[in-house]
Amino acid sequence: MKILLSGGAGFIGSHTYVELTKAGHEAVIVDNLYNASEKVLERLQVITGKPVPFIKADVADRSAMRAVFSEHKFDAVIHFAGYKAVGESVQKPIEYYRNNLDTTLTLCECMREAGVKCIVFSSSATVYGPLETSPLEESMAPEDCTNPYAWTKSMNERILLDAVHAMPDWSCALLRYFNPIGAHESGLIGEDPVGIPNNLMPFITQVASGKREKLSVFGNDYNTPDGTGVRDYIHVVDLARGHVAACEYLLTHPGAEIINLGTGIGYSVLDIVNTFMRVNNIDVPYVIAPRRSGDMDSYYADPSKAKALLGWQAEKTLDDMCRDSWRWQSNNPNGYRD
Ligand code: UDP
Repeated sequence: MKILLSGGAGFIGSHTYVELTKAGHEAVIVDNLYNASEKVLERLQVITGKPVPFIKADVADRSAMRAVFSEHKFDAVIHFAGYKAVGESVQKPIEYYRNNLDTTLTLCECMREAGVKCIVFSSSATVYGPLETSPLEESMAPEDCTNPYAWTKSMNERILLDAVHAMPDWSCALLRYFNPIGAHESGLIGEDPVGIPNNLMPFITQVASGKREKLSVFGNDYNTPDGTGVRDYIHVVDLARGHVAACEYLLTHPGAEIINLGTGIGYSVLDIVNTFMRVNNIDVPYVIAPRRSGDMDSYYADPSKAKALLGWQAEKTLDDMCRDSWRWQSNNPNGYRD
């Protein structure tokens, strides 16, 4: 298949590029590099041994995207492009709604014009909202979202479900990611957050490397076995393989599917910290801090639909995730800015 990766230079997009190439597909990355580095492209070339088809363009720019669709004949689109910082979305809701909805609408218009009918959307488990009933199943009615970022994911899901309803020969997978961590085993590509990381694993790796003094563990009085928050961490390479499986499935299955991509296993913050220290033989100083507002006790997937429908399941262990995250961080202390 020939697949357009919108936002393909980012953390999940770049890993998906590798897995698509490995599976024999052809992928073209379109990215405006707003939140990604051009260096990713060189690294992808090293990993795959082939030049990386790349077009620098804003996915919300209709004339640029029309040109992309007339230059290439795509079988499917995987849509990653979008702003992704939860806290920032609270400060800049208008920018988030404008960008995250425009990119999807523009892509859909260009797909319709060009006769491309398959789309995989990068959604998030955050659309379930503050549900207290893990494991989370796709059929559960979500609660209201808790921030504009989450609403943009939820609204994009609605847009795509309605589009498929109106165009029944389209196929669409709304992939709800749980907590992607880890990195490609080469240590050449990985997560490269700007500024102080909000997410747990990038914060841990920066503490381990001495860039930050200590980790704050947000709350140890949750209703979980050790009192710290439980999440469903998934290796980014497993997640990337899930996109390959979804594309292959969509080619022969019109209609829309919502699919969780998680492991189904919940680990606590202290499980992550202790595993990271053990497998990498490195210290991660931490303190117990107050709860972070909006956080839940436990949030993890029921991943059985992905297995039944796509034949996909996560394979990598928490040890792999911690080892690979650290290899990426220790080889690239300043991310792609080295
Ligand atoms: N967390 C933490 N310290 C940090 C960042 C996160 O204790 O510096 C905890 C957070 O409270 C949650 C878990 O780690 O229980 C995962 O948080 P993250 O922000 O990575 O993902 P979320 O599930 O909130 O999207």
